[in-house]
Amino acid sequence: MIMTNQNPRPPAADSVVGLSLVVPVFNEEEAVGLFLDRISRVFSGDTSVAVEVVFVNDGSTDRTLDCLLELQRENPWVRVVDLSRNFGKEAALTAGLQHAGGQVVVPIDVDLQDPPELIPAMIAQWREGYEVVLGRRINRDTDSRAKRLSADWFYRIHNWMSDSQIPENVGDFRLMDRAVVDALNSLPESRRFMKGLFAWVGFRTAVVDYVRPERSAGTTKFNGWRLWNFALEGLTSFSTIPLRVWSYIGGLVALASFIYGLYIMLRVLIHGIDMPGYASIFTAVTFLGGLQLLGIGIIGEYLGRTYIESKRRPVFLIRHIYESKD
Ligand code: UDP
Ligand code: MG
Repeated sequence: MIMTNQNPRPPAADSVVGLSLVVPVFNEEEAVGLFLDRISRVFSGDTSVAVEVVFVNDGSTDRTLDCLLELQRENPWVRVVDLSRNFGKEAALTAGLQHAGGQVVVPIDVDLQDPPELIPAMIAQWREGYEVVLGRRINRDTDSRAKRLSADWFYRIHNWMSDSQIPENVGDFRLMDRAVVDALNSLPESRRFMKGLFAWVGFRTAVVDYVRPERSAGTTKFNGWRLWNFALEGLTSFSTIPLRVWSYIGGLVALASFIYGLYIMLRVLIHGIDMPGYASIFTAVTFLGGLQLLGIGIIGEYLGRTYIESKRRPVFLIRHIYESKD
């Protein structure tokens, strides 16, 4: 393989750029129509952009697929990748990225919480030579307090533990050059924490800020438990500190008990034997028991993920891809 340092420069300001929007949808029958209307409005007068929208139907159980196919009849620039069941947003995004043909690709939520009006500004940054343009929320008032607080803690812990830093308040909404998408598509892992993978690939990055609006229609698909598991996935995918920290905790505890043992020996030599000590034995035994279970549990988290990964199952299965000519 020949490696070059040459950076493929984006085309000049007036040339037409192929833009793919990647839109995972899961039970979004009310939102898809609104979404496509907005997209048409944003790009209707813009001759410098050729848009395609890749919807990934992530096993919706409502009329989402019918709505999408109806929309496709009037809008031939819509493609629909229909997955065989619900694989989760990360897998749906992965599927969409693999089927996006554009020179620049933007993953975007169907609920219009990622304003499409921002995309021309992102393209402008890309024309300046940036390969990744992040959409950053400058306020998260539309998210609940608990969600904001837990997100804050997640970023903090993740970035402390992991080598690749996830920028704060940045979701999946971002513009990526073809080179970045190809890099993502070439990553072999099957447990895909996209935020982390996006950060891991790197590339020259710019940021545009926006205010995150309310959901246009429908309801959020992420409850507390799902978010918690998502966070665990993120931490265990990109850091082994939780595994390694046990040697240090074990060492510290062993050292402390050794010193305590010495202290007891000296006390016996000086003062003789007495028998109190129920409470301290009880606390020590239960505390250490708890600590060991915690350690085993964390090993279990990693082992479970390694186990799933080792099966080499595909990230998603496609039932059918609907092109406009179908
Ligand atoms: N989504 C998906 N599969 C899922 C859950 C969600 O494809 O299992 C899609 C959903 O249709 C939406 C996007 O992911 O387009 C973001 O979901 P949502 O708006 O519910 O998340 P929130 O904005 O509340 O974090
Ligand atoms: Mg949303």
